[in-house]
Amino acid sequence: THRPIRRALVSVFHKEGLETLAQAFVKAGTEVVSTGSTAKTLASLGVNVTEVSEVTGFPESLDGRVKTLDPHIHAGILADMTNPDHVEQLEQLGIAAFDLVVVNLYPFADTVRSGANEADTIEKIDIGGPSMVRGAAKNSASVAVITDPADYALVAQRVADGQGFSLEERRWLAAKAFAHTASYDATITEWTSQRWIKPASVSPVSEANDSEAAETAADGADAIDEKLMPATLTRTWNRAHVLRYGENPHQQASLYLDPLDQVGFAHAVQLGGKPMSYNNYVDADAAWRTVWDFAPRIAVAVTKHNNPCGLALGETVAEAHRKAHACDPMSAYGGVIAANATVTLDMANSVRPIFTEVIVAPDYEPEALELLQTKKKNLRILKVAEPPHARTQMRAIDGGVLLQTTDLIDAEGDDPANWRLVAGEAADEQTLRDLAFAWRSVRCVKSNAILLAHDEATVGIGMGQVNRVDSCDLAVRRANTLADNADRATGAVAASDAFFPFADGAQKLIDAGVKAIVQPGSSIRDEEVFAAARAANVTMYVTGTRHFFH
Ligand code: 5GP
Repeated sequence: THRPIRRALVSVFHKEGLETLAQAFVKAGTEVVSTGSTAKTLASLGVNVTEVSEVTGFPESLDGRVKTLDPHIHAGILADMTNPDHVEQLEQLGIAAFDLVVVNLYPFADTVRSGANEADTIEKIDIGGPSMVRGAAKNSASVAVITDPADYALVAQRVADGQGFSLEERRWLAAKAFAHTASYDATITEWTSQRWIKPASVSPVSEANDSEAAETAADGADAIDEKLMPATLTRTWNRAHVLRYGENPHQQASLYLDPLDQVGFAHAVQLGGKPMSYNNYVDADAAWRTVWDFAPRIAVAVTKHNNPCGLALGETVAEAHRKAHACDPMSAYGGVIAANATVTLDMANSVRPIFTEVIVAPDYEPEALELLQTKKKNLRILKVAEPPHARTQMRAIDGGVLLQTTDLIDAEGDDPANWRLVAGEAADEQTLRDLAFAWRSVRCVKSNAILLAHDEATVGIGMGQVNRVDSCDLAVRRANTLADNADRATGAVAASDAFFPFADGAQKLIDAGVKAIVQPGSSIRDEEVFAAARAANVTMYVTGTRHFFH
């Protein structure tokens, strides 16, 4: 699979590092073809270099716009020398093949940054360079392509050893090369699309023909002004829905789909109800992710404003829903319901009297679907065939995005077998089961999160407070006021998404009658926290793992 490097094409804007290549070429007697100033540099380094214009029989012209754009060059790059037919054609045409293409492109981004005028900036849009790079990358069967000067030392080695690059290496280089031209074009797109926007003379004909977007656009909805959109996103991702508005009515919003991803929550099929809103998407996506944290167990979450107001496991989906709803029936009004199992008629009947914005599930029994479609006309009914699969998450910040791997519950500390008992007696089987449930559940609660649970259902959730004591207070108060059974904190278990920085928060839970607590530990005041639990003979485990959710 190795291909020796006998003939190389070199055309680089940045001349740094060429000595490394030149030395290797001279030593190995490599034939080198090169453009104007690159040829001069190589010649000055002792390389016996052939000018591109000699190969093409055509002068470099139009201020350098046309240098290598010629079949004598491109046939030499694109001929697949593992294909006898290509070899023969090349021979008939009297064209020699290249084994190596070394290119770096006109510095478009640097030119923009320098504040250059429009004409100078346009001149720095490299045309021949990307064509050579893409041609060589496409033809990795025969050609090695180098776009990164950091790889020159490697090239020198491969030239010197007479073997050249292996197929594996050429493919890796090709992948790097395509990434390079893609980001180069993205930069050009960013610049052009900020300046050259759709003129009024272009009527919205093309929009109307864009049937999917037009059909699914909510009444009266405006697409976000193209000038406001990050170009790299809008040019590469596809707008699927224009949403009625964003988080608030004065904000514009759209849903964009990753063109390389065919599944996932963003591809939900809607089987009934009003069009999805921005907030519906945010909440339903959060609820969807939450229930799949429990697979293969059957789980139902009721979510509002990106926080659960109830979450439970059940033997059936209907049971899980009833338990989740019972946590906080008041907040469930106008919520999102997510299930990780087929919605049954039994569950649909329970949902029927509850005002709900969205329901999302992998499927619906036909009678359940019919009941929801006919009796709850406004309810957005979503079917998503696949569990969440995104292993990374993006969040926009001013001028950029943050990217992180998704918080999964698969760390060592997430396994109760690895928890450390630091206070009270070891939990019995049922208590440990509830602690495991509470720990898994607290992941989806906005920090600071305190979650009380009983019988694999949440009974009190303290979410989103800026200190942990308030979250403890809130969890206890909500456990003890939101249901007919007015003392649900007593005998419940508790989970905390991060350590207790002081004993005061844990003390609130202990005073409320919680029998066991699980938390990450590793506060400098751990001993004070453990001591509070020991004094009350409350079981406490530490996990060593944290699940902030901001
Ligand atoms: P040199 O400095 O050797 O004269 O030119 C090298 C630069 O020209 C490289 O950045 C290469 O990408 C670019 N280049 C090579 N061929 C062409 C072409 O045909 N058209 C344009 N616009 N640029 C080219």
